[in-house]
Amino acid sequence: MSIDKEYAHDWIENNKKRLIEISDKVWEFAELGLIEFKSSALLADELEKQGFRVERGIAGMPTAFVATWGEGKPVIGVMGEYDALPGLSQKKVPWKEPLEPGKPGHGCGHNVHGASGMAAAIAAKKAMEKHKIKGTIKFFGCPAEENFSGKVFMVRDGYFHDVNAVISHHPNTMNGATLESSLAVNSVKFHFYGKASHAGDSPEHGRSALDAVELMNTGVNYLREHVIQDARIHYVIEKGGDQPNVVPPYARSWYYVRAPERDQVEFIYDWILDIARGAAIMTRTELKVEFLEGVYNYIPNRTTAELIVKNMREIGLPKYSDEDWKFAEEIAKTIAPEMKIAQLKKSKRPGWERLVDKLLDDEIPDPWGEGETSHGSTDVADVSWQAPTVEFGTATGVIGTPGHSWQDVAESGVGLGHKSLIFAAKVMVATVIDLLTKEDILKKANEEHRRRIGNKKYRSPIPPDHKPPLDIWEK
Ligand SMILES: [Zn+2]
Repeated sequence: MSIDKEYAHDWIENNKKRLIEISDKVWEFAELGLIEFKSSALLADELEKQGFRVERGIAGMPTAFVATWGEGKPVIGVMGEYDALPGLSQKKVPWKEPLEPGKPGHGCGHNVHGASGMAAAIAAKKAMEKHKIKGTIKFFGCPAEENFSGKVFMVRDGYFHDVNAVISHHPNTMNGATLESSLAVNSVKFHFYGKASHAGDSPEHGRSALDAVELMNTGVNYLREHVIQDARIHYVIEKGGDQPNVVPPYARSWYYVRAPERDQVEFIYDWILDIARGAAIMTRTELKVEFLEGVYNYIPNRTTAELIVKNMREIGLPKYSDEDWKFAEEIAKTIAPEMKIAQLKKSKRPGWERLVDKLLDDEIPDPWGEGETSHGSTDVADVSWQAPTVEFGTATGVIGTPGHSWQDVAESGVGLGHKSLIFAAKVMVATVIDLLTKEDILKKANEEHRRRIGNKKYRSPIPPDHKPPLDIWEK
C-alpha cells in the first residue's frame, strides 16, 4: 500500500474511538429527515475543528452542509447521510425491544453512513497535507435521504457542479459495489376537499373527499395493466375522515410512482394526475396536488466500482470479536431461512448460494449487476448524473437482515456497525487518494460517465421554486 494511504489509515486507526463515538451519538439522536439538527451539527463541527471550511444550511435545508478542504482540481466528493426512520426505536440487543416505543431509529444505518464519510474526508485531508497531494476534498452532509431526497435540492442549487467524482458508502449485509441502476420516483400527496354533512340525515348535502380518494385509487389500479412491467405504484390513505356519520370533508392519499427511467415516471405520473382530476370531477370535490419529491435513476460507474473493490481487497475485511459473532448468531435466529434465501437470490450476486449458510459476508466480490435495476430509489442517483459516482456497501448486518428493520437498528449501533464504519472509512479514503493522484483513472471514470449518459439531459425532477418541506413533521 502507498505511504499516503497508510498515513490516512493510521489516522483512522488512531482516532477509532472518537469516530465510533460520533456514529453512536448519531445513532442515539435518531433524528428524522430535515430535522437532523444535532446529528448534522456534530459532523459539521468535527470537520470544522479539523480545518475544513463549512457552509451550513445549504439548498434551503438547515441540516444540509458542505465541508471543503484544499484547492483546485481535481475535486473529489464524499457523501454522508444521518437521517433515521420513524417508529423504529430499538435497543442495542439482538431481540425486538424499543428504546422508546414509537420513536425513530437508525433502521438504515445512516449513523454509520455519516461517520464513515466524515472520517474518510478528514483522513484524506491529513494525507493530502502530509504528502502534498493537490486537489480539493468536499464532504457533503446530506439530509433526508429516506423521505425528501435532500441531495436533489443540493444538485438543483449547484452544489455538485464542480465535482470530478463522488463516493458514498452505505451499510449493507454485503461487501462490494454493484452496477445496478435504481428506480426514478415521484412522491406526491393528493388532497381532496369536499363538504361535511350528516351522513344519515342529509348525505345529499355532503361531498365526500374520501369517495374521491377511493375512486382515484380505483382508477390507478386499472391503470396498472397499461404501465411497463418494471413500474411500481404504491399509496397510502393518510386521512380518510373522522367518523362514519359525517361525510368526510377532507381526505388525503400519498403516492409513489417509480420506473427505471425518469421519462417513464413522468409519463405515468401525468396519467395519474388525470385520474386524480377525474376523481375530483366525479365527486364534485376540489383537488390540490402537493408534489413532495422527485428522483432520477442511478447511473453506475464500473471504473470507480472496480477501484473500490480493489481497495477493499487490499485493506482486507474486518476481524470480528467473539462478542460480534455472538450478536450475529442471535440476530440470525430472528431471520427466517426462506427470507434469507429470497434476499440473497434477489441480490443477483454471482455465487450467492455460498452465503446461505454464512452469518456475515466474508467475501469481496467483483462489481456485479450491470444492466440490472434494483427496485428501490435513492437520491444518490441525482448526484450520479453530475459526475462519476459510486455507492458501495460494507457488511454491517447479518446476511438476510431486512432493510429498515429493528435488526438493522441494533446492528448499526454495536460492534458490527463499528467495524463496518472503520472498514468503509479506510476504503473510501484509499479511493479518494487514488482519484486525487491517478489522473488516468479519474479520466477513465469520467469518459465512462459521459458514455453512459449519452445524449440524455438531466433536468431537475423538482420544480425550480419547490422547497424542502421543512415543517412536514409538525403537520
Ligand atoms: Zn439508507
